[in-house]
This record gives sequence, C-alpha cells and structure tokens, in this order.
Amino acid sequence: MTANLLDFDIEGLAAFCETLGEKRFRATQLYRWIHQRGVKDFSAMSNLAKSLREKLPQVAHVSAPAVLSRQNARDGTIKWLFDVGGGDAVEAVYIPESDRATLCVSSQAGCAVGCRFCSTGHQGFSRNLTTAEIIGQLWYVEHTLRTERKTTDRMVSNIVMMGMGEPLQNYSALVPALKTMLDDNAYGLSRRRVTVSTSGVVPMIDRLSQDCPVALAVSLHAPSDALRSDLVPLNRKYPLVELFDACARYLPAAPRDFLTFEYCMLKGVNDQPAHALELVNLINSHDGGRGLHCKFNLIPFNPFPDSGLVCSDRVTVQAFADILLQAGFVTTIRKTRGDDIDAACGQLAGEVLDRTNAAKRMAELREADSTTHVVQVKRPLPTPSV
Ligand code: SAH
Ligand code: SF4
Repeated sequence: MTANLLDFDIEGLAAFCETLGEKRFRATQLYRWIHQRGVKDFSAMSNLAKSLREKLPQVAHVSAPAVLSRQNARDGTIKWLFDVGGGDAVEAVYIPESDRATLCVSSQAGCAVGCRFCSTGHQGFSRNLTTAEIIGQLWYVEHTLRTERKTTDRMVSNIVMMGMGEPLQNYSALVPALKTMLDDNAYGLSRRRVTVSTSGVVPMIDRLSQDCPVALAVSLHAPSDALRSDLVPLNRKYPLVELFDACARYLPAAPRDFLTFEYCMLKGVNDQPAHALELVNLINSHDGGRGLHCKFNLIPFNPFPDSGLVCSDRVTVQAFADILLQAGFVTTIRKTRGDDIDAACGQLAGEVLDRTNAAKRMAELREADSTTHVVQVKRPLPTPSV
C-alpha cells in the first residue's frame, strides 16, 4: 500500500517528504501540483528533481474516491455520488450562484448522531471518511470542472461541511482537510468561506477554535432541551446551555463575529410562533442576558419515507422568520435548488437505503426530490448586545 498524498495537509506532506530524505520545499512543490493544478501523475511534475519523480510512484499515489454517478440540474447544481468502498457511497453537491459557487462536502459514510429528521441519520453510522476522501471531493470537483470548462479560474469559492455525517465526530480527518482548503499553496479559501456544520459536539467546537477556526454553523432545530433531545439525540449529552457556552467561546476565534444557527422546519413539531418566541428568549437570556451574536437559517424539511415528519408550510416558515426578524436576528430561508435532481444538501440520500447496495441507492436517489442552499438576507446583522 502506497501513501495517498490527498491524506496530507502541508505539515503531513513535509513529514512524508522527510521520510524520503526530501526537503520541505519539495513538499510545497508537490502540494501545489496536486491541489492547485490537479495533477496526479508524478512524471508531469516538471520542477521536481528527476530522482524524486522516479521514486514517488513506488511510495505514493494521488487518488480521490471513484465517481458512481453524476447528475446535472437545469439550474447548474451538480451532484456526484462517490464510491468509498465496502458498499458505502457519499455525496457532494456543487451549487453555483451569481457571486459564488459552493461545494457541500460529506465527512462520514452514515452518521451516528441519528437525528430524527435526517435520512443520513436514519441509515446509521458506517465509517469515518479519511482526509483523502474528504478533500478528494473538492479536488475532484474543482479540477474536473476546470477541465470541462477549459479554464484555470477557481470553480469552488465556498465549502460547507453539510453533506453526510457529523464532521466534528471525524475530527482528526477533518482538520487536515480544512487546512488544505485554506492553504494558499492549495485552494487558498478564506476562513469565512469554509463552514463546518455541527449538531453540537461541544468539546470539538472548542478544539476547532484552537486548531482551525473556520465559520461555524450549529444545527439547533429546537428552543428547549426536551424537544431538542428528541430531534437531535446528541443533545442529551451536550444540552443547550453547554452548547451555547461553547458557541460563545468560539465567537472570538470565528472568522466573522457571529455564528449561524440552522433550524429545520418540521410541521407541528418545532415551527409554531411559541417556539420562535422561546428561541428568541433562549438566545437573548444566554450568559445572564448578554445574548449570543448569531443569525438563523431556516431549512424547509426535506421529507423522506418513514421519517413520520412533514415540512412546515410556506406561511408558517415565513411567520416563524418574521418573529426572529422582529427580535433583531438576521434570518434567512433556504431556497430550493437542483429541483430536477436529488440535490438536497445535508440530507443527501433521498431515502433510507441499504448501504450495501449502492446501485439500488443510486437508482432510488434519482427519483427523490430535493431542497438545498441559497439564502435570502432580509436585514443587516444587529449590533452585538454586549
Ligand atoms: N451533521 C452536521 C452536518 C450535516 S447535516 C449537522 O447536523 O449540522 C447539514 C444540515 O442539514 C444540518 O443543519 C441538518 O440539520 C440539515 N438536515 C438534515 N436532514 C435534513 C432534512 N431532511 N431536511 C432539511 N434539512 C436537513
Ligand atoms: Fe448526523 Fe447531521 Fe444528519 Fe444529525 S443532521 S444525523 S448530525 S448528518
């Protein structure tokens, strides 16, 4: 087994090069060929010493997960299904907009958190992706689209870790992937354009603030511990007060001075005016009334069989948003993208499917419908209450 160089951030690559007796600047050269240029053939890396070009194929390779399927939506959204072996598949979704292009990336095959409204959660946990499998989604999409469009322009400007899996439960593989997204010798994305979305793994929120403070989105979904524990079982381990404390500790390190709360709108479950008012009260009373500088992103629930849940209607979602807006919170409602394919991001598999049967899953995925990102900013951010 040779090393997959997509598994390394620059430090890892430098350490690998050292084992070959190569200096650090060789690692930088390699890193640039791989991530900036999308080259995986060592013999084409013309500024590497010939001896190194000959040695590398014996000890290393560059490979992203194989593509099982690709679907192009009329609005430009593209979804890839990647084979990660053992019957597991994960998805990445490319969402172009006028001023950006976002790639939604998966971090795990399945997920152990088991949220009630999430089809990935209903599949159970299969395994953590490796760093190569995480960054490989970006590597593949960026360079495939550049080649297809005959351009050297950047294709992906934003990353959201909102695909399958809980990124903060795959921390050790996640961080080198994030570092590569940010590194100027790789993708050079600014921290504010890379978002980690979490269901609330409190200790790892703290570690992320130290190791790689990118933008943070927290999946809230409920204004009380009782309801949140029912929807997001991890809440039993890390209840709201602990989660909010972790959010407050994260803020000084956050690339923008706020964080985003995601809230999946579930008919009759968490979508009533009373829930919105409770939410406002909960946030504003945090830390002895100092509040928490945040915005809200309301996500219409993307239904799947056997969830037993239904999406809130449009009027209810708007009424909920209005309460948050009136309380001074920037609130956005996620719009539908990629309608004609199953481009749902965050709830990527449209159905709960047999993990061991990727072909069946692929066929079924094509039939499911979807929602995905794109937000409408309704009001400017309020000034912090402190
Ligand atoms: N595990 C992380 C990131 C992946 S899920 C997290 O939970 O934050 C990304 C987002 O999609 C989360 O906010 C999640 O709550 C949301 N989501 C999951 N299933 C959904 C569904 N069926 N409809 C709408 N949003 C969903
Ligand atoms: Fe896991 Fe996120 Fe789905 Fe919850 S919403 S089950 S944390 S992927």
